[in-house]
Amino acid sequence: MGKGTKSVRGGIRHVNDGIGSIIEPIYQTSLFDYREPEQRPSLHGIVPLKYSREDNPTVHAVESKMAELEHGVDALGTSSGMAAITTLMMALLSRDSTVLMPPLDVYGSTLVLMERLGRFGVKTVITDPPGTNNVINSLRNGINVVFIESVSNPLLRVYDIPKIVRASREVGAVVVVDNTLATPMGITPISHGADFVIHSATKYLSGHNDVVAGFIIGSDDRIKGVWEWRRFLGTIMEPFTAFLVDRGLKTLHIRMRTHEENAKAVAEFLMDHPKVEKVYYPCLDSHETYEIAKKLLSNCGGIVSFEVKGGLREAMAVYKHVKMIIPSVSFGGTESIITHPASTTHAHWSPEDRARAGIKDNLLRLSVGLEDPPEDIINDLSQALSYA
Ligand code: PLP
Repeated sequence: MGKGTKSVRGGIRHVNDGIGSIIEPIYQTSLFDYREPEQRPSLHGIVPLKYSREDNPTVHAVESKMAELEHGVDALGTSSGMAAITTLMMALLSRDSTVLMPPLDVYGSTLVLMERLGRFGVKTVITDPPGTNNVINSLRNGINVVFIESVSNPLLRVYDIPKIVRASREVGAVVVVDNTLATPMGITPISHGADFVIHSATKYLSGHNDVVAGFIIGSDDRIKGVWEWRRFLGTIMEPFTAFLVDRGLKTLHIRMRTHEENAKAVAEFLMDHPKVEKVYYPCLDSHETYEIAKKLLSNCGGIVSFEVKGGLREAMAVYKHVKMIIPSVSFGGTESIITHPASTTHAHWSPEDRARAGIKDNLLRLSVGLEDPPEDIINDLSQALSYA
């Protein structure tokens, strides 16, 4: 099955009520009749279906679709992307475990979570500056988990997953890839050897800016141990959320194609604009990781970051004057959203850390939406740039 067909038709359906619904019902129930447990299905092959903090058929339908899309053996739906990361880390780490990550190149809250886990004896090794080579050079015996984003945020560096996996194997480290920005339409890290993939399904997977959700996808049976932690932490996805995410996934391939088309048009416009200092898009040959993107990505995504000539004042002038584009946080939905990372997503970083990561005060991140034609987005940017 092709990726698009899997998006529309993939996954296991549990509906068997004789009514003929072609859509998985929303099983809005906290418990299941348990008189004869042997008659209940075991959705993840662990326990018979009895309680929605453990398993739920609507959630399982979308989980099995995600496992297929990401080439994993199984997937777990979670209440958010952060719930996915927290649950997986609880399963993988113990006192004195060491996590390696390019901390200036992962989602801010992921980094803060790792720092907070320090209270329980977890150590984080910092690779600085960001990039594939620095991750590989920092690997050594005693590192248990390598955590990377396939495409990082907001500077859109692409990480060479096969290379990092090969080097991690040599020291016995587990590789976790946050595939939120790239989506399975861009890359499937498990097919390059990654052990686990996590997603904020809040973004492209659900795709409509109306859901907060996440996934953990496992490459083998270790996902069963993660299931246990999801049960104890209570971080499972809600059935109605699962319905919305499944509905969103049905158009993922089409949306990603249009996000990419629109983003390329916007990137080209910004490249030629006299008030723009620099443009970041993985498929521009000026991007520092272009060669890796060319090798690994089958879709370059819908995010374009750019620096406005001048400083904070000029960038904020653009941010404040967009009309159709929405100034806010998050990305990956139908509506175009503009973000000022230094004052929002990366506001809790020190100015020195931001500078080392290359996140300047004049940087804006644009999540290019599905507005059609892309000139509508470009015209709005053009008028906003006139205030810079
Ligand atoms: N990973 C990445 C790359 C993100 O951008 C985000 C949120 O912005 C998360 C994880 C956390 O996801 P959520 O907000 O769904 O908890």
